[in-house]
Amino acid sequence: MAEVSKTQKVLVVGAGPVGALAALYAANRGDDVHVYELRADLRDPSTTPLNFTRSINLALSERGINSIRNAKSGELLEEIITETIPMHARMIHGRRKDGELYQESQAYDANGRYIQAVDRASLNKRLLDALEKLPNVTLHFNHKLTGADFNKKTAWFEQQRHAKTDHAQNPSQNDALWHDQKRTAEISVTFDLIIGADGAHSATRYHLMKFARLDYQQEYIDTLWCEFQIAPRPSDSSFAIDPNHLHIWPGGSLMFIAIPSLDRSFTCTLFAPASHFSSVSENPEQKLVKFFHKNFPGVCPELISTSDLQKQFRENPHLPLISIKCKPYHYKSSVVILGDAAHAMVPFYGQGMNAGLEDVRVLFDILDKHGVYDSETPDPAARDHTREAALDEYTSQRAPDAGAINDLALQNYEEMRSSVQSPLYKVRKWMEET
Ligand code: FAD
Repeated sequence: MAEVSKTQKVLVVGAGPVGALAALYAANRGDDVHVYELRADLRDPSTTPLNFTRSINLALSERGINSIRNAKSGELLEEIITETIPMHARMIHGRRKDGELYQESQAYDANGRYIQAVDRASLNKRLLDALEKLPNVTLHFNHKLTGADFNKKTAWFEQQRHAKTDHAQNPSQNDALWHDQKRTAEISVTFDLIIGADGAHSATRYHLMKFARLDYQQEYIDTLWCEFQIAPRPSDSSFAIDPNHLHIWPGGSLMFIAIPSLDRSFTCTLFAPASHFSSVSENPEQKLVKFFHKNFPGVCPELISTSDLQKQFRENPHLPLISIKCKPYHYKSSVVILGDAAHAMVPFYGQGMNAGLEDVRVLFDILDKHGVYDSETPDPAARDHTREAALDEYTSQRAPDAGAINDLALQNYEEMRSSVQSPLYKVRKWMEET
């Protein structure tokens, strides 16, 4: 089996969580795997531009955990889980009519099941470490997919050589300068299969559109997001609020959430319509604290000092949220897209990455079912045929499921920012639980 599968050359585009897991699955089946990643290696602080080192905490759920478990990659899952914090419930924060602050814990599951807070970068590093140990995997950082011919099975990458020493001598330079100092060269690479896991603005998907009759739908919702940090308590470096909750300050059309980190801080996200961001940005010194006081009681100055709040709002980017659906996810036997490249979703269901990790498990289950890795199909033409049938089935099975998660994510925004507060929600919950 290993000898036959070695002859399949798989290119994975994107070394984010989904691409890295897909590379592990392919490598464990004996493929000759090459991972091409646009950015520098995120494990190497000397080559990583500052704006890519931002840590985003995510909720890792059973959907994602099960997909990592099925990678059958030694202690990988245990290593990842030791770097997570269980969140058993959500904690709703607010202010009563009498002015008193309150918080209310709402369990995620009647049977005690929970989700895990994980640092996206740590998870990604663990996956890359696991890949690097495998002899049949080659990691190519600073390589950007720029073109692909999915009939001729050839892809083109721009290889970026950073002017590393210049950057080290002048660490204050901005990213535009950093970009100027890149030297590029184009390489062409042949393949049997490309797995495109290059995120919401996927180049693989862009090129796939030229070959497949791909239906495509994208929507920017009228919400921006910005990250904040709640530091550990200065007195004893403990968590400032309960670490085993996902904290939510619902605000009607806005929302502030906090997810615990291993260093006992919380990574927080403000979600609000673009008009609120522009209104506050007109005069943050005057408006920001009032805005927080009114909408997210108990955050400033209790958990984030006024100066930190101002600084973080000023310095952290205000980013959009995109929702993408497309179909099919593949073309013939030569390309398939996974993760955000196939179905970027708004983050309110906490399932974007989890669904992407699940794509990987489902894809390889289907490839296995069709016998793509069986020694009975050593002939490349026969294997192409088998792989095409498997990719057909993958699109048919996965597109409706991913579309449903996409829709649920949009619906859960209403739930998180508003419904969790309403008496009706409480009655409904009570009826569900009794
Ligand atoms: P990405 O993480 O985007 O990785 C794509 C990779 O491809 C990148 O490394 C990029 O550099 C590389 N790349 C891009 N273009 C090219 C190219 N041309 N050539 C080569 N490489 C390229 N999900 C959850 O499951 N739980 C959560 O709690 C959660 N919270 C979220 C909160 C926020 C605020 C946001 C914005 C998202 C959240 N998500 C969450 C979604 C999650 O972040 C994404 O679904 C996940 O990162 C997608 O992983 P990916 O590997 O498909 O894509």
